[in-house]
Amino acid sequence: MKLPILIHPDPRLKKACAPVPDLSDDLRALAKDMLETMYDAPGIGLAAPQVGVLSRLIVLDCQKDENSAPRPLVMFNPEIVALSEDVNVYEEGCLSIPDQYAEVTRPEAVTVAWLDEAGNPQEEEFDGLWATCVQHEIDHLNGKLFIDYLKPLKRQMITRKMVKLKREMARP
Ligand code: ZN
Repeated sequence: MKLPILIHPDPRLKKACAPVPDLSDDLRALAKDMLETMYDAPGIGLAAPQVGVLSRLIVLDCQKDENSAPRPLVMFNPEIVALSEDVNVYEEGCLSIPDQYAEVTRPEAVTVAWLDEAGNPQEEEFDGLWATCVQHEIDHLNGKLFIDYLKPLKRQMITRKMVKLKREMARP
């Protein structure tokens, strides 16, 4: 089932999310719906607060090459356990901030620990686009958006555009 995606500014996008205490069928179903919503958008990552659920859950698939098989990842309680000193600059966007892009500097590689859908602990090092995406999604769980890395003027400009967009969307 496709879920509606919250558009910035929304207070739910600024909240720190609670850890998932126990995996339930409801949470697994939510992760499945989030993947469907992400692929449909289309996007490469989605965090639970973006669909209004304040739980530490993200989904991502940064497989861009058309010839490679999809690699949907579902992460409950993801945590960055190591960061590289080297950094990377990517032009980022966000499904909650449609059609706005800006360069963000982040560590080039990160090691992430999480629980998979079966409740098993996983740990993996990501680099390139995967590293940027997983950091962007984990930021969402801490109420942080990619525009929070930008200079205030640029951030305010984007926020004003989103307020206008939401007003237009709300019109009958
Ligand atoms: Zn985002």
